[in-house]
Amino acid sequence: MTRIVITGAAGRMGRTLIEAVLNDPDATLVGAVERSGHALLGSDVGALVGRDPLGITLQSSLGSVLSNGVDVVIDFTTPMATLEHIGICRHVGTRMVIGTTGLSRDQQLVLEQASRDIAIAAAPNFSVGVNLTLKLAEVAARILGDSVDVEIIEAHHRHKVDAPSGTALALGQVVARELGRDLEECVVYGRQGHTGERDRKTIGFATIRAGDIIGDHTVLFAASGERLEITHRASSRMNFASGAVRAAHWLLDQPPGLYDMQDVLGLKGAV
Ligand code: NAD
Repeated sequence: MTRIVITGAAGRMGRTLIEAVLNDPDATLVGAVERSGHALLGSDVGALVGRDPLGITLQSSLGSVLSNGVDVVIDFTTPMATLEHIGICRHVGTRMVIGTTGLSRDQQLVLEQASRDIAIAAAPNFSVGVNLTLKLAEVAARILGDSVDVEIIEAHHRHKVDAPSGTALALGQVVARELGRDLEECVVYGRQGHTGERDRKTIGFATIRAGDIIGDHTVLFAASGERLEITHRASSRMNFASGAVRAAHWLLDQPPGLYDMQDVLGLKGAV
């Protein structure tokens, strides 16, 4: 039985994660944490997901929740909050699944340093389908090489605060690596005005923010005369949440280190 604490529990992903844990016979929810000042602090977590009381109250202190014997903290919050939670989990020695996106380079470095002491699974996208998409994009880039233009198009709901999405960037990184390019050097974020002809060595990103779109990603490989599009569309947040819970179970057997969803699914080195 994997004993799990969820941070950001009243958020969109937090609530879906609560459902995913409650629906998993091999997982137990032992705590739920929100930012101090949140209107729902002190209420029973069951109310967050329209269920009967669970006997677990929403708390603001991750440190005190961790004293209850916790295997894994699942964190889908904000970069600032995630950093704070990493410090607490590192101190106590609790494993983490981190889904928060938009971490800066420095924040990513702190995460990497913490993984020397605790096992962390961090991924911009915990959906199994997206992780397979990453693999398919890698294979396509390897075979098509420099003979195609690569563009990455993503769409998300109007509340998303970072762009391009962490998943779009991960797709760009996989393709760039396979093509022997540095993404930071070849990236083009949107186009406007007199842009001149497209440089084949660039990788372009286009971002859509609209309505309640959960998350769409397309990698477009375009040559003269044909094009290949690899598309993933999420229709529910549950696919991210169940992937994160799967990662939490997987972490129980891992030594300290930094892992991603490709590790969890055994996709590294496959194909
Ligand atoms: P959200 O705004 O609905 O939820 C975030 C929650 O975190 C809020 O309830 C907020 O109050 C809470 N929070 C903020 N500071 C906190 C703190 N110090 N302690 C505890 N809780 C705190 O956002 P969301 O749509 O649920 O997304 C959360 C994050 O997860 C974003 O970075 C998003 O991009 C990412 N995300 C990742 C995946 C994935 O598969 N990796 C999938 C979906 C979303």
